[in-house]
Amino acid sequence: MNTKELDNKYVLPTYARADVEFVSGKNARLTDVNGKEYIDFTAGIAVVSVGHGNERLANALCAQVKDMIHMSNLYLIAPQAKAAQKIVEASGYDMKCFFGNSGAEANEGAIKIARKYGEKDGQIKRYKIITLNHSFHGRTITTVKATGQESMHNYFGPFPDGFVYADGIDEIEGLVDAHTVAVMIELVQGEGGVQPIDKQKVQNLAAFLKTKDILLIIDEVQTGVYRTGKFLASNLYEIEPDVISLAKGVGGGVPVGVVMTTLKDIFSPGDHGSTFGGNYLSTTAICEVLDILKEYEESGELEAGIEYFDKALESFYSANKDVFMEKVGIGMMAGLRVKDADTLANVIKSARENGVMVLKAGKNTLRFLPPLTITKEEIDEGFKALNVTMSSL
Ligand SMILES: *Cc1c(COP(=O)(O)O)cnc(C)c1O
Repeated sequence: MNTKELDNKYVLPTYARADVEFVSGKNARLTDVNGKEYIDFTAGIAVVSVGHGNERLANALCAQVKDMIHMSNLYLIAPQAKAAQKIVEASGYDMKCFFGNSGAEANEGAIKIARKYGEKDGQIKRYKIITLNHSFHGRTITTVKATGQESMHNYFGPFPDGFVYADGIDEIEGLVDAHTVAVMIELVQGEGGVQPIDKQKVQNLAAFLKTKDILLIIDEVQTGVYRTGKFLASNLYEIEPDVISLAKGVGGGVPVGVVMTTLKDIFSPGDHGSTFGGNYLSTTAICEVLDILKEYEESGELEAGIEYFDKALESFYSANKDVFMEKVGIGMMAGLRVKDADTLANVIKSARENGVMVLKAGKNTLRFLPPLTITKEEIDEGFKALNVTMSSL
């Protein structure tokens, strides 16, 4: 049986998979099983931050794997301690980290931190967490309930109590009551449609929450690790969150989630844990990815890449205003709003046929999340294929 037949027979059908099978990649280039080549403007949904087939990352992982992949969190783990140091130092915040395996798990950790913060003397005093409509926080029972999209709350109840949804950032203050312990938001909503939240409004909200002793949790699973040009979108927004979650780009493709907080004493041994979280394999990946991207940022290459990508996207947008109505996003997290949803599906399919991978976000956004290390040549090639796509629609 080929992959498609095996997949159909043995894998639960939770994804509407496209009929394409990649076998290898080099930075932003992909090759499929038929030898066809593509430019990757998706990076596996913002995961492959340092590009496919990255030699430095591969070498670091190979060396580590030959020594050991895993021992338990009951013992000291050198790459985990170093990864935590690198993350905290890059963030500029006075925080400590916990390591899990995914974005949802990082957000679970964030929610547990908030719930414990709301408990006083063994009594649950405050437990409500306000999130935004059109947000996305994960697929576990709790994080799916934290996600402000009604369509995702089918079938799986009863859900944990205490999530309250605000229509927009302006509504949050009005929803605060005596039971509110935290607000959790993305600064640029990713799955919701590449929607940046207004910086001044976020700063005002952060100041308001401080006066009420309500925690500000920033879900940086997608925006984190230089996606917006700064290490964290929180740095770009010049705010000081109490809790931040990271995942997608931080392991360069190795599964990992991180929750970090200023509440360094919130957990005691036994309060939280993970078998795999923070093991030798995944935290070695974090260390190397962060070294690579730090150098890339400090050399000015990241900024130059973002600028070049933005210009290319702008001219593509200008040339196709009959199909697209708005350019959105920050840094290497960009989108074009498409006038109708059918056209969006056609663009994505036709782009793939023409050799460039792009994503959908929300109902009507064409989304771009290239590897952060994408080169000018790769950007040019990708948009050339997209122009062919547009003229063939
Ligand atoms: C992808 C994503 C998640 C979920 O991450 P998983 O690794 O799929 O669990 C959570 N929050 C945001 C903002 C995301 O983009």
